[in-house]
Amino acid sequence: MKNNILVINCGSSSVKFSLINVLTSQVLVAGIAEQLTSEQASITIKQKDNKQQSRLISPYDHLVAINFFVDTLNQLQLTSTINAIGHRVVHGGETYSAPALITKEVKQEINRLSTLAPLHNPANLLGIEATEQALGDLPQVAVFDTSFHQSMPKKAFLYALPYHLYEAHDIRKYGFHGTSHYFVANRAADLLNKPIKACNLISAHLGNGCSVTAIREGKSVDTSLGFTPLEGLMMGTRTGNIDPSIVFHLVEKLGYSLAQVNDLFNKESGLKGISMLSNDCRELEDAAKNGHEHAQLALDMFCYRAAKMIASFSVCFSRLDSLIFTGGIGENSSYIRKNIVEQLSLLNLQLNNEANLAMRFGKSGNIADSTSLSCWVIPTDEEAVIATQTNQLVIKETL
Ligand code: ADP
Repeated sequence: MKNNILVINCGSSSVKFSLINVLTSQVLVAGIAEQLTSEQASITIKQKDNKQQSRLISPYDHLVAINFFVDTLNQLQLTSTINAIGHRVVHGGETYSAPALITKEVKQEINRLSTLAPLHNPANLLGIEATEQALGDLPQVAVFDTSFHQSMPKKAFLYALPYHLYEAHDIRKYGFHGTSHYFVANRAADLLNKPIKACNLISAHLGNGCSVTAIREGKSVDTSLGFTPLEGLMMGTRTGNIDPSIVFHLVEKLGYSLAQVNDLFNKESGLKGISMLSNDCRELEDAAKNGHEHAQLALDMFCYRAAKMIASFSVCFSRLDSLIFTGGIGENSSYIRKNIVEQLSLLNLQLNNEANLAMRFGKSGNIADSTSLSCWVIPTDEEAVIATQTNQLVIKETL
């Protein structure tokens, strides 16, 4: 039986692979190719406890990386076990509220949507086309980061701009990290022992990129990332919410070019910009412990802004079941979770300190006090969602 799905996540200079058994959810082989398009391009393959890094050959591109991974699967006699390939695609616009079987038309649409995600969709498309060349006869599915948020109502997704900019140019909030919010929401429903359709949740995905989503009766009704993944929370290197007039000031009064502003907002701000040290939360926690004032300020701002966003989403509910933390920071940093939760006592959130300290490194559990609203730490697994949804769609299409 073909029970395995190959999940591919293509960035502009990297590709992540996982071969996942959909019956057991086990990752059989994983790989990551990095520094593509440069002579330093390499690929690391992990199978069970065995990890091996190899240099890639010219032209050091996505096809070379995908061929290398497929050769590895051939050597392990696993290629014939693949039922389909699932691709993470960042932007599905308003076209896709669910995964799509990849056809010529779907590729054209992903390409058209590149205007909304110029850094991501072209790379995703490169991955799809390279996979077609390497494994041409297998069905491929696109799973979109934006799909889960297509249930947001207009009052949540529109900006207060002239309406024709939405109608003619698709300018609106799309939201991202949808696959992650979907996964943790469903996992929380299991843990709460309730059908997802009866669950009201706020999930906070805190990693290098950060977002909060309000999930009412299992559906996303608001989210903090916007037209691009720059809006909302303070992130590793991104500003999050900012007064847009600062752009005019930087350009007109301080002589920045628009390209420089773009770099400043996306790559030099957030934790990195305030701490003047690092975008890495671990490093900042260590530095703050040793008295680094800017590291402390960056962490305080990060938590205050996250708490403020979470509290603001309380307007979406008349009753709330749980707050969820996920992502590299949300899953591991008891310090950040404590700081955020302590600012949310009006939402009836009280931390259980022991449970909070214990919930790290892949552990899942409730970190709230017994009298409090529950607060779950749930490790995210976007690859598992892509594998499951790909498999379900391929089975449905071939019935
Ligand atoms: P990405 O958005 O790139 O997928 P991740 O979800 O892997 O990022 O999150 C990366 C962030 O998680 C970094 O800021 C890192 O410092 C933080 N992180 C990982 N482990 C820990 C930890 N044990 N304590 C605090 N922060 C952690």
